[in-house]
Amino acid sequence: MPRAMWIEPDIVDMTAASNMLDRKGTRPATDINAVILHQIADDRGSEPMQYKNTRAHFVVTKTGIIIQLHPVETMLWASNAFNKVGVAVEFAGHFATEKGVWWKGNKAHNIPTNVQIEAGRELVLFLYMKHGIKNVYAHRQGYLPEGGYQSGAVNQRSNCPGPDIWYGVGEWAKSNLSLGDGGKGYKLGNGTAIPDSWRTQRVPTF
Ligand SMILES: [Zn+2]
Repeated sequence: MPRAMWIEPDIVDMTAASNMLDRKGTRPATDINAVILHQIADDRGSEPMQYKNTRAHFVVTKTGIIIQLHPVETMLWASNAFNKVGVAVEFAGHFATEKGVWWKGNKAHNIPTNVQIEAGRELVLFLYMKHGIKNVYAHRQGYLPEGGYQSGAVNQRSNCPGPDIWYGVGEWAKSNLSLGDGGKGYKLGNGTAIPDSWRTQRVPTF
């Protein structure tokens, strides 16, 4: 994409209001090579202050607002095995698995909105243009339990970010920006590879 045609997205800067205790030092910007997609598994609406304690570099609300909570050079314990190289992006909402199962029975059952998917794509494009990221991963691919790799430990994040966010943003970034996702079967530690069903379009369509 020619640089001249690219317009930076509006990003709400919350880096002065976020939780400083989540910052675990810094890394050189040159170490960053991936965006990691997450779902919050809860929807706190469109008011940016509601997300000040979310442990991620960015949040994308269901109304398409992009919020930055921490500078990209900040190390966060947000994406398990991908922490050193990844920029963590959380999508607000509680999204179902490919089998239509929601994780938390007591939370609202959401589906990502079109404006949210669109904003997520704009954010990935921004990170690609500005920081040269080469990969997009699902959080589920890089799960390490507290204390590191444990044989047999169960991945608690197997629906992060879920099939709709993955298809709408992850597969889009692969097709349009030529980002890699490690390929079929790729995972780290106790992570879980992306299933084939996440790679094809579902209802709703994006
Ligand atoms: Zn996650």
